[in-house]
Amino acid sequence: MTYDRLVCANCAAPVSEGRCPTCRANRERMQQPFGGLTPGALLVLLVVLATAAALLVR
Ligand SMILES: [Zn+2]
Repeated sequence: MTYDRLVCANCAAPVSEGRCPTCRANRERMQQPFGGLTPGALLVLLVVLATAAALLVR
C-alpha cells in the first residue's frame, strides 16, 4: 500500500508532505518494515514460514 495519495485528516494536505505531526506520524508508521505490508504479503510470508517449518520437522 502506498501513502502517496493519502490525505491527512488533520491538515488536509498529502501525508507524504509531512506538514503536521499527524502526517509525520502516519508516514513513519507506514515506513516501518512490517507496517507497509499488505495482508496478501503477510499471508505469503506465513505460508513460506509454515513450509520451511514443515521441511525442518521431517
Ligand atoms: Zn497532516
